[in-house]
Amino acid sequence: MKISIKDCSWIAVWCMLSIFSVFPGTAHAEPFAEEKYSRIMWGYLETLSGFGPRYVGTKGYTQVLELLRRVGAQFADDVLEHPFIVTRHNGEQMRMVNIEFVFNGTAGGRPVLIGAHYDTRPFADQESDPELRKSPIPGVNDGGSGTAVLLGLARYLKEHPVSQPVRLMFFDGEDFGKSGSGEMFLGSNFHANQLEKLPEDQRPKAVLVVDMVGDKDLEIFKETYSMRSGPKLIQRVYDMARRKNFSQFNEKSKYSIQDDHLPFIKFGIPSIVLIDFDYPYWHKISDTLDKCSPESLGIVFSVIAGVLAEW
Ligand SMILES: [Zn+2]
Repeated sequence: MKISIKDCSWIAVWCMLSIFSVFPGTAHAEPFAEEKYSRIMWGYLETLSGFGPRYVGTKGYTQVLELLRRVGAQFADDVLEHPFIVTRHNGEQMRMVNIEFVFNGTAGGRPVLIGAHYDTRPFADQESDPELRKSPIPGVNDGGSGTAVLLGLARYLKEHPVSQPVRLMFFDGEDFGKSGSGEMFLGSNFHANQLEKLPEDQRPKAVLVVDMVGDKDLEIFKETYSMRSGPKLIQRVYDMARRKNFSQFNEKSKYSIQDDHLPFIKFGIPSIVLIDFDYPYWHKISDTLDKCSPESLGIVFSVIAGVLAEW
């Protein structure tokens, strides 16, 4: 339906507005207040930034888990915890946990999984100064922004239920180990292995991962593993961005990124990642709140919410 306001009398406009306000949250692809959710997500990102580094064993890790549990209890139909033990190369054992928010939807069927990692990197390995490389990163964009978008989506899905069942997955241990150590993507690997044991009709039909989506200077290119694994899903996302006039979604491909989508690709679920990898503060101690913006979070949120509402 296309409405031209200038052809309507003010009475007709008033009637339409009244209809929307009388039946909130029931329309299928109802318009929503994007600014409101941008503000909410920015609030979450400020909170995460205030926690400092958030990897297993830190105070910030305990705090982010408390935040996830509290928001999940507030908005999700159910919250599931998936603890797992990681044995490191030196024999040390660590307990990590993925948190899952369940939204049942009204239509039933296989869910869509939207994922982000909530942990932050314990060392700033992209710093040129060897001393700085030992410091943990604040992880406001890398670890924080995806988490904030998922928390915003949790509130949105409570306030604007969609027919499509949705699982919001907060992965642990994405950024834990050194590159090539096999100690990265720990939470998503664990979850993919768990899902592989399920009958096919209980597995997610698609996986969409968000990571590093808060950059003020947002530009999201199509990621190449995603294009091969989930061409229809990525097109659905980019079509939605185009309809919303978000030029920050660039149709060109630029990078192949290893991220939490790969474990799901390996066992055949169409899976994509939305990531802005042109971020000079990646894995540096300068990955701080001032490099991010509420508008960028809002753009990515708005596209995903639009895709979910129309699924
Ligand atoms: Zn990272």
